[in-house]
Amino acid sequence: MSTDAEDVSKDRRKYEFRKVIEELREYEGSGTQLVTIYIPPDRQISDVVAHITQEHSEASNIKSKQTRTNVQDALTSIKDRLRYYDTYPPENGIVLFSGAVSTGGGQTTMVTRSLESPPEPIQSFRYHCDSDFLTDPLENMLADKGLFGLIVLDRREANVGWLKGKRVEPVKSASSLVPGKQRKGGQSAQRFARLRLEAIDNFYQEVAGMANDLFVPKRHEIDGVLVGGPSPTKDEFLDGDYLHHELADVVVGKFDVSYTDESGLHDLVDSAQDVLADQEVMKDKAEMEEFFEKLHGGKKATYGFEPTRQNLMMGAVDRLLLSEDLRSDVVVYECPDDHEEYEVIDRRHDDPDHTCSDCGSASEKTEREDVIEYLMSIAEQRGTETKFISTDFEKGEQLHDAFGGIAGILRYETGI
Ligand SMILES: [Zn+2]
Repeated sequence: MSTDAEDVSKDRRKYEFRKVIEELREYEGSGTQLVTIYIPPDRQISDVVAHITQEHSEASNIKSKQTRTNVQDALTSIKDRLRYYDTYPPENGIVLFSGAVSTGGGQTTMVTRSLESPPEPIQSFRYHCDSDFLTDPLENMLADKGLFGLIVLDRREANVGWLKGKRVEPVKSASSLVPGKQRKGGQSAQRFARLRLEAIDNFYQEVAGMANDLFVPKRHEIDGVLVGGPSPTKDEFLDGDYLHHELADVVVGKFDVSYTDESGLHDLVDSAQDVLADQEVMKDKAEMEEFFEKLHGGKKATYGFEPTRQNLMMGAVDRLLLSEDLRSDVVVYECPDDHEEYEVIDRRHDDPDHTCSDCGSASEKTEREDVIEYLMSIAEQRGTETKFISTDFEKGEQLHDAFGGIAGILRYETGI
């Protein structure tokens, strides 16, 4: 499988984002003194600085001296961070977090973090000052639900759009000239019925044309198409082969939806939650199926830190599979005889003592790093793709619990 350098760094960036978000979520301020700012890519930095200056002066009205000082300090350090940017923020915007967080026993410490170029563009400017940091908009971006085409229709109206991550984007709508069921006086019943069916057929063609124009160019990126509407309209539409065959093949579900305007697109996504959750782990499931097949059927699979590291170094790993719930560090030790050994430990634990398994001497720690970042760096150098595997299904849980959260599908047998 080929590796796209851009994808690799996208995965890494997503991981780094997730890690910072997890850290930020843990923090608590003793009052409403944690500041979060979301800056969209089209917002001028000078505007943001002006806004912060304004908030800084308004904060002087805060009664509690401690809260006042903390909020003003947070705003000052955000302003300091903004000095590093030119006129506009980098691609997709920036999110800044700053505040005095509780460290227990009434003590606080100042924390400032900035996250540049999130995976999706920040939609609107937000200034948030509360007892916790605002991480939801970022978390929604990271929830990788992929790209879905949305169609809602009845016989009078239709809307098509996208579901990108968790965001619904309406794109086009159409309304029909299909006459109601009541015919006018003087028209023969037969002729009326025929005209009505023709009008319905025309409308379905129009809707399909709209969907085809929008979705077919993206057919290789699309994870699925969802269709909503009342019965039997959506069934007629799907059974009538109106959609381009490549789209028809990826229809992942049809749902009863009462509205067919833009709000219907949102209703459709709500109704499809279960299907979307399945879709989300579907790719992960396929990776794990392949891993187990290779593991049982031959030797083109590896797992655990050390074997995987060795295979990675050799360039033998096609895909590195890492559990999304892996929270460990790798500690690198070196003994007086230069034997290098590794230990993987829980991120919260201190470095354990280590004795060289080769010569029995006490080893010195030379390095400690997040195990995911450590392995991803080797993977990037060797052209290996990294896949994060959710624990929301059985084999994903197994990767985490039974394989230490680390595995690989090999290009060839290595005997390691
Ligand atoms: Zn040694």
